[in-house]
Formats: sequence, structure tokens, C-alpha cells
Amino acid sequence: MSAETTPEPEETRPPWHARVLTIFPDMFPGSLGVSLVGTALENGLWELDCVDIRDFGLTKHRTVDDTPAGGGAGMVMRADVLAAAIDHAREDMPDVPLIYLSPRGQPLTQARVRELSAGPGAILLAGRFEGVDQRVIEARGLEEISIGDYVLSGGELAAMVLIDACVRLLPGVLGAEASLSEESFESGLLEYPQYTRPRDWEGRAIPDILLSGDHKRIAAWRRAEAERLTRERRPDLIASHPKDTKGKT
Ligand code: SAM
Repeated sequence: MSAETTPEPEETRPPWHARVLTIFPDMFPGSLGVSLVGTALENGLWELDCVDIRDFGLTKHRTVDDTPAGGGAGMVMRADVLAAAIDHAREDMPDVPLIYLSPRGQPLTQARVRELSAGPGAILLAGRFEGVDQRVIEARGLEEISIGDYVLSGGELAAMVLIDACVRLLPGVLGAEASLSEESFESGLLEYPQYTRPRDWEGRAIPDILLSGDHKRIAAWRRAEAERLTRERRPDLIASHPKDTKGKT
């Protein structure tokens, strides 16, 4: 393996870096500034900054949008303004994935989150209005990612969702890293049901097996429950992960 292709040792890698292009930079860090993800931000385990798209806007009004070609309701974010903001954002992060949060994008999956989290970070374009001029998507090679089949009023919340999902996978962010491997989607299954004290609550008891101390039987019960829930709620996951789930019921 050549020196260029040798991965940098974990401890010498710069922190994972999220850069959000938005017309509402005041929305950040928002929920990313609290709890474990926020503590990790404070401790320098990851970095966050925003590029205010209006800094690249036109005229003294810092205009970023215009009427849709062909007519119709709403406004569209201009390609020239967005390209200037994107090019600026990439100057010191040229090799970082460039993502446009968009309801038309590929659905975000835990597999893509894992890939992004293992990389240097992400530059995320948060759209507003009716979206962005198609030409900038093509000219700058933006990867379109959706966080679900519904329409938000802007891409900022979607960017936060993606960042949160990536950051919690970074080494040192969560206390018990072993628990990650059992979470929903990690093995192609939804997670099994969780319980904690009190042992009896409103006439509902914790399943006896979880109090048995028999770790082998507990693991088997959890696996069976994960498979049952996945079959009932998300049979599509079973179909897309046959090697993980086949013949284990
Ligand atoms: N006219 C667009 C359409 O019908 O597809 C919706 C535009 S939406 C009001 C404004 C912005 O919110 C989008 O440009 C995108 O950045 C963001 N957005 C909305 N829904 C989203 C979703 N499900 N996933 C990711 N981003 C979303």
C-alpha cells in the first residue's frame, strides 16, 4: 500500500467536520449543542460551522432566490448564488462529500450514515423555498439525500438529523460503544424491546427471562423479538438483509 492510500491513524485525524450552507445559520447548533453530541462538540470530538448563503446573495438585499422558470408558485434558490457559497465552503474542505438535503433524494440509511461518519465530514446544503435550481445540483455534483417521505419547510432540520446520526457513531461520543452494534438497523433488524425498573408497573411485568441472569437465553430472546418486530413492522428490511436474518427464527 502506498503512503497516499494508508489510512491516517485515528488519533491524528482531524475532527469530523460538518459545514452547513443555510440562510438561517442561527438555527445551529440547536439540538446539536445538547446532550452527548453537544458535549462532544464542546470537547472538540467534532466541529460544526455554517456558511450563510446570504453572504453570497445579490444586491444590497442579499437576494438568494428568484421566480421559477416556466411559472408556478414560490421561489427557487439561484444556481449562481449557491455555486459561490458552495465553492467558498469547499476551499479548505475539497474532498468532503457534498450533500443537498432534498425530499427527492435517496433515503438516508444507517449504512450511509456509517460511511459518512467514517469519512472526514460533510458539507450540507439546506434548501428553502421550492428548492434549488437543478443546474447547481448537476454542476457541483451534489448528492441528494432525503430524511423521509414528507416535506419540511427547510433543509436545516434534515441536516441536523444527518449530523446527529453521524456524530453519535464517532469514537468517544457515546459511553457504551458496544451497545451500538445492537441498535436498530445495525444488523438489518429493528431493536428488541427495552425495559428498566420498576419490575412491575401498572400491572405490566418485565419479561421473566430478562431477570433470569442467563445471558445466552436473554440474547436468544432479544434476537427472536428483534426478528418478530422487524417482520411485523418492516418486512422490507428482512428482504434487504437476507444474509443477516435468514434461517434464524
Ligand atoms: N418543492 C420541493 C419538493 O416538492 O420536493 C420541496 C421544497 S421544501 C419546502 C424546502 C427545502 O426543505 C428543500 O429544498 C430541502 O432542502 C428541505 N427538505 C424538505 N423536505 C425534506 C426531506 N424530506 N428530506 C430532506 N430535506 C428536505
